[in-house]
Amino acid sequence: MPKISVIIPVFNETEVIDVTYKRMKSVMDGIEMEYELIFVNDGSRDDTEHKIAGYAKKDRTVKLLSFSRNFGHQCAISAGMDYASGDAVVVIDADLQDPPELIPEMIKKWQEGYEVVYGKRLKRKGETLFKKATAKLFYRTLKHLTSVDIPVDTGDFRLIDRKVCDVFRRLQEKNRFIRGLVSWIGFRQTYVEYVREERLAGETKYPLKKMMRFAMDGILSFSYIPLKIASFLGFLISGLSFLYLIFVLIQKLFYPAGLVPGWTSIVAVLLIFNGIILILLGVIGEYIGRIYDEVRNRPLYIIDKKVNLDDEGVE
Ligand code: UDP
Ligand code: MG
Repeated sequence: MPKISVIIPVFNETEVIDVTYKRMKSVMDGIEMEYELIFVNDGSRDDTEHKIAGYAKKDRTVKLLSFSRNFGHQCAISAGMDYASGDAVVVIDADLQDPPELIPEMIKKWQEGYEVVYGKRLKRKGETLFKKATAKLFYRTLKHLTSVDIPVDTGDFRLIDRKVCDVFRRLQEKNRFIRGLVSWIGFRQTYVEYVREERLAGETKYPLKKMMRFAMDGILSFSYIPLKIASFLGFLISGLSFLYLIFVLIQKLFYPAGLVPGWTSIVAVLLIFNGIILILLGVIGEYIGRIYDEVRNRPLYIIDKKVNLDDEGVE
């Protein structure tokens, strides 16, 4: 009998976790397959961990991985994949914005032979206009910036086959943009559509700052275009400066009388160039920062506690 591993990253989700557990249970019990629910506690400061440990005591299908601190959603998913033992892995948020009831549909597609089945959001409910608009803009920008075919309006809610999971685990990069990596891995991919519900309770654990960081990871790890913009601007500006230089020289040689000391133009040129240099330094800095992350090669996460799990994951 095939086994399904469900990975649920949780960060301060005490308000929803009971309902989430029950709903996951009833969906998974309805599928005639073996399964495990891997809760990855990403350094919650409330009693989320305690609650999950409670389910795990009574229910062997519940596994708990607890991080030593908050490492982020993407690291939590990665940890879940390291410890998952199923033939297919489903990643789902804990706040029930992604309906667990869609999992059977994903499994059906998987049984038809697809290795990746992602959830495509038709609509997002209960999220601010700002979040919807920025998300929309982000996915479309990313699409233009990269040659990897990353589907728009999808999150990490997806099913992936063991094969894809094993490849994923071999990828060692630190600033992860999982939905992009899964697309990059390839294999047969398809989707099921759904309406993204409102968060059941509590508030988003993805404030603007984290979202920007995440968007940056997405763009910088899948595109060199920001670097190319840098060199393009460099060439453009150098070309323009050269033309301006000719103009200045001609003026100096042929019409020296009309020349006013060029204070304005000097300031203007300085301002423009300083601005551009700063932008370019910033772009280069972003990439260098990432290179630094890779070179340091720190682990993606640190496990503090494990329940119902042995050492199958290799960190
Ligand atoms: N999450 C996490 N670590 C974090 C932030 C979020 O594990 O640092 C989990 C969170 O508990 C939830 C999922 O990731 O299960 C998605 O987070 P959230 O629903 O807050 O994000 P949103 O849906 O608002 O983008
Ligand atoms: Mg959410």
